[in-house]
Amino acid sequence: MSSSHSGRSAFERLRARLDERPHACEECGFVDDAGEWEAVTTGATVEYRRECPSCGTEHLRQYRL
Ligand SMILES: [Zn+2]
Repeated sequence: MSSSHSGRSAFERLRARLDERPHACEECGFVDDAGEWEAVTTGATVEYRRECPSCGTEHLRQYRL
């Protein structure tokens, strides 16, 4: 847990981690391997959101930068 000013690379590392495997919807189990996480930064945290194309459930992952 070291803090650095390389927020950009941390940002990209998190996205790479999310893209590592196809996202399976927690509600309906639909595997969406074409969709993308939408990143929203809010200062110290970054949120990744995506919506299941099958059931419309919004998924959220939040990380600290
Ligand atoms: Zn779903």
